[in-house]
Amino acid sequence: MSKHIKSYHSGVVSTLSRVRNNFWIPRGRQVVKKVISECLICKKCALKPAKQLTGQLPRDRVVESPPFAVVGINFTGAITIKAGDQSCKKVYIALFTCAVTRAVHIEVVSDMSVKSFIFALQCFLSRRGGCKLIYSDNAKSFRCACEIIKGFKKNIVDPSV
Ligand SMILES: [Zn+2]
Repeated sequence: MSKHIKSYHSGVVSTLSRVRNNFWIPRGRQVVKKVISECLICKKCALKPAKQLTGQLPRDRVVESPPFAVVGINFTGAITIKAGDQSCKKVYIALFTCAVTRAVHIEVVSDMSVKSFIFALQCFLSRRGGCKLIYSDNAKSFRCACEIIKGFKKNIVDPSV
């Protein structure tokens, strides 16, 4: 193994010739082949990349557009925070991800209700500008918020709903 390493992980012929400078090993080629086959560094170098097939990305994700024009929305959490009176409070995160640039906008919400989501969406839209398409996992609160927004399409979303 040391001759193999000293020859910078060379192949069978080169390693065998280094060995034969000092020793003659009967069936040396097979011994050297076995040593090289057990060498972890050579195994790693010999690996070929996996021919993984990936699906086509949606057109919205590959066409150039301003940041947050196409976004994905999801809730995550819960995380525990300390409120002003030193009590612990559970909050959630509304995560807005730009589908093109992978930029992230985070809004902290008190719960995963429709009302909280609409507040978070209003904050997001007022901060980042309008978006033309929103992807979500069709969670109940997202679907309900969508119906509310469509119902009040002429006005700005009424957060008291
Ligand atoms: Zn090696």
